Amino acid sequence: MIPELDHAAHITHGPIPFFPYSDLFSQDEKALLDVIAGVCRRGAYILQDECFEFERNLAKFMGVKHALGVANGTDAIIIGLKAAGIGVGDEVILPSHTYIATAAAVHLVGATPVLAECSSDHMLDPDDAEQRITSRTKAIMPVHINGRTCDMDAIGSLAQRHDLVVFEDAAQALGSQFDGQSAGTFGSFGTISFYPAKLLGCFGDGGAIVTNDDDLAEKVYCLRDHGRDQSGDVIAWGYNSRLDNLQAAILDYKLKSFDRDVQRRRTIAQVYHDGLSDIEALKLPPSPDADSRHFDVYQNYELEAKQRNDLRAYLAQRKIGTIIQWAGTPVHQFERLGFSIDLPKTDAFFERCLMLPMNTAISDGELSYVVESIREFYNQ
Ligand SMILES: *Cc1c(COP(=O)(O)O)cnc(C)c1O
Repeated sequence: MIPELDHAAHITHGPIPFFPYSDLFSQDEKALLDVIAGVCRRGAYILQDECFEFERNLAKFMGVKHALGVANGTDAIIIGLKAAGIGVGDEVILPSHTYIATAAAVHLVGATPVLAECSSDHMLDPDDAEQRITSRTKAIMPVHINGRTCDMDAIGSLAQRHDLVVFEDAAQALGSQFDGQSAGTFGSFGTISFYPAKLLGCFGDGGAIVTNDDDLAEKVYCLRDHGRDQSGDVIAWGYNSRLDNLQAAILDYKLKSFDRDVQRRRTIAQVYHDGLSDIEALKLPPSPDADSRHFDVYQNYELEAKQRNDLRAYLAQRKIGTIIQWAGTPVHQFERLGFSIDLPKTDAFFERCLMLPMNTAISDGELSYVVESIREFYNQ
């Protein structure tokens, strides 16, 4: 039961933004300024110690052999695909329920993104994906949405049956696990985004590619830095897509307390679950201990709601920020990009989905206000 909020509780907090960007700095301002000053005083801006140190710590955290920083999570996918040799004539199957960046990366290396339905877990449906395999299909790219790892047993066996490579867009899933293994480490490579609102956010853009494949890591090392190898020799056409040292230093600092951040997110998910699970108009994501095979890190708390738009307006009146993921448009609905397929399950999901505030700055009082407001909307 959620206790009635008294009047005082209402006025102890102001508006509750969906994501409080400036709080990420003000929460820990002094220590962060020290980190930034440490880099700037040495003039250590590009591919310096902090970047390599962060890459080592990230690889260790994820239990993977190589982690390589790049400029953002989209470049991470592009460079990973290039390194894996994906290009013109190849097809890559991915869910339509993803950010446009996943599909764009496939298109930009010259290959064709083939969009598939999502299943009841909101992620790539292996059965639907199987229907879309052709003689040109080279790879399957699951996207670990909202901090939950896809069922990698089902995806792994599908890939094996059809001799496909697996690439993982783990932009939203740092720290998430399936059967104790980190999202992003199942396939040939995985990618992470450090966009400010992501689980581990920097103060700008940032991304990483992770892999256990030494050859692929070597290629990524060159591709992200003008095609130059360890000795500085240019051995391939490359990009300029390095993780800024300043961002790497901030990320390395924040990685030290990342487990605590994940714990807080899981606590918030439990509070939402306890406060809302009896409302029949809502379908909630699994609670933190719902399934022992999954360790969810709750990048987002995305639910399905009847009267979704009215609920959203009601919460907005109460100054509670919510978001419909990707502005309500799954990839296959972008007709101007040339898509003309029907994905009714994905369409239906986008009629009902809504994300509640989920971040490490939200207070317990704010959380109960969100829960109470939703209960009031449904007269519960
Ligand atoms: C954020 C995100 C990306 C892109 O990451 P950027 O760092 O913004 O380029 C790719 N895929 C998914 C699923 C994302 O959420």
